[in-house]
Amino acid sequence: MRSVCIAGNWKMNMSPSEGRAFAKALVEALKDATVRVVVAPPYVTIAPVAEALSGSRITVGAQNMSDNLSGAFTGEVSAPMLKEAGASVVILGHSERRALYGETDEFINRKVRLALAQGLDVILCVGETLAERESGKLEHVLATQTAGGLKDVTSRDMSRVIIAYEPVWAIGTGKTATPEDANAAHAFIRGEIAKLYGKAVAESLIIQYGGSVKPSNVKDLMAMEHIDGALVGGASLTVEQFAPIVRYNIG
Ligand code: PEP
Repeated sequence: MRSVCIAGNWKMNMSPSEGRAFAKALVEALKDATVRVVVAPPYVTIAPVAEALSGSRITVGAQNMSDNLSGAFTGEVSAPMLKEAGASVVILGHSERRALYGETDEFINRKVRLALAQGLDVILCVGETLAERESGKLEHVLATQTAGGLKDVTSRDMSRVIIAYEPVWAIGTGKTATPEDANAAHAFIRGEIAKLYGKAVAESLIIQYGGSVKPSNVKDLMAMEHIDGALVGGASLTVEQFAPIVRYNIG
C-alpha cells in the first residue's frame, strides 16, 4: 500500500504575514488529517509558515531552488538556505518554470540531484501540453521528462522523490483530466520508473495528480489505482477548498 501526499503550490501568492495566518488556520482545519501534507509558499514566506506549522503534521516545501550552492547568482536561493528557512521538500520542473523560464530537463535534473544531495525531498513535475497530447506525443513527453529529470538519481534516493503528473492544459484552467485518463498517464509513468529502477521502486513511488483539483473531483481521482495524491494550485489558497481536499478520505 503506497502512502498518500497532498501538496499545495501557493505560486506567487501569500505575503509573509498572510502565509503565517493561513498556516495557523490550516493547522486547526487539518488536525484530524491522515495523509502527508505539504504547503509550498513563495521563498520569503517559507520561514514564517514553517514557524506557524511547527509541531503540526504539515510540512513546508519550496517552489523552486538554484542549481548552485552559493556564490554570484543574483536573485537565486540555494538548497541550504531553503532548509534553514524550514523547507524539507522542493517542487522542481513545474510547467510554469518550463514554459515561462525555459527550464530544460537537463537543468531540472541538476536541481533534482542537488536537492537530494542536500537533504531535500523532491516533487518532480511532468506533463504534456494540449498540442502534444493531440498529436500523439503524450507517452514520449512523459518518458522523456521522467528519465531526463531523474538522470543519475539512485534507487536509494527514489524513496525521497514524488512525481507529479500535471497535464499543462489542466493547470489553472478548470479543466481536469478524467480520472481514467489521469490514471493511464500515472500507470505509464510507473512503468517507466519500473524500467529505470525495477518494480519495487515503481510500486512504492508516490505519483500525484495536478490540474484543477477541487473538493468536488478529488475523491474520484484518489479512487484510481495509480493516483497517490494531488499537487493543488488555486484550490490550495483557501481553507474552505484545501481542507476538504486533504480530508477527502474522512467523513
Ligand atoms: C499547479 O500549479 O501545480 C496546479 C495544479 O494548479 P491548479 O490546481 O490551479 O490547476
